Amino acid sequence: MRRINLRTMAKINLSLDVVGTRPDGYHDLRMVMQSVRLSDQVTVSPTRAPGVRMKTNLRYLPADQTNLAARAAALVMEECGIRDGVFINLEKHIPVAAGLAGGSSDAAAVLVAMNLLFGLRLPQEKLREMGKRLGADIPFCVMRGTALAEGIGEILTPLPALPDCRILIAKPDIHVSTKAVFEALHMTADIRHPDTDAQVQAAQNRDLAGVCSLCGNVLESVTEVRYPVISRIKSFMQQQGALVSMMSGSGPSVFGIYDDDRKAEAARDALARGTDASFVCLTRPYNRRTEIYD
Ligand code: ATP
Repeated sequence: MRRINLRTMAKINLSLDVVGTRPDGYHDLRMVMQSVRLSDQVTVSPTRAPGVRMKTNLRYLPADQTNLAARAAALVMEECGIRDGVFINLEKHIPVAAGLAGGSSDAAAVLVAMNLLFGLRLPQEKLREMGKRLGADIPFCVMRGTALAEGIGEILTPLPALPDCRILIAKPDIHVSTKAVFEALHMTADIRHPDTDAQVQAAQNRDLAGVCSLCGNVLESVTEVRYPVISRIKSFMQQQGALVSMMSGSGPSVFGIYDDDRKAEAARDALARGTDASFVCLTRPYNRRTEIYD
């Protein structure tokens, strides 16, 4: 049986709004999500020995059943009654715990890879439903491209591709707890909600400047106060000509969108020379959807 080798795309949030809290502690969200070309590489191979084994190039990342990639494989095996085993090789390039859905994109790729490897012919909706059980960002990572995500992130409305642009991503060397950020949001008085509907309309019109002018992330109300480095990187990107700069997800990564290659490259080089960001990457939107794997 062949092995399946897939790139797993990171995402940024062009907007993130919290519109409610659920009894189970999850939040109702409205987000405009965008896949980017920053990616990990996942290879899934069949093995005679049953079960899931894996290895990864990052020594500090668990390569056991707790890894989201392994959990995704185990879920497919259980759900579809697969008795053979698989070996997953995970080559990480997306920074971990960065607000870029690295783990979610790995899990999504493994769901797609298992579908192909074992000829399961599960429709994309089924893969998204299985992904939701493992993490709220996984359904979008299965679909990819540009989308409005609602519910906990699983109700997806595809949007037209974002016009081509350069996306500069910088992660400061800090750890931000997603749980703590959501908890603190409830005690924050000054919350600036994005106009998600207007941004969706701008995305429908393929209006890059409009999309950028309507970016907003409620979680910045918490993180920018706690971590001034996030504000510093945002301001720097803006001074360097970004159409917008904003934190992705619950952070700490910050992205800047540029319609000018030279300005984007100069900003990348300056950030890479400085001390505020431990990871800097200049990338582009990724707009091919997962239908190609169905
Ligand atoms: P999100 O944007 O979806 O909140 P994130 O980018 O902030 O995600 P991840 O990189 O997915 O965060 O990692 C979150 C946690 O998940 C880490 O603490 C990490 O140990 C764990 N984890 C499990 N599997 C993976 C994986 N394959 N890649 C990265 N992290 C993983």
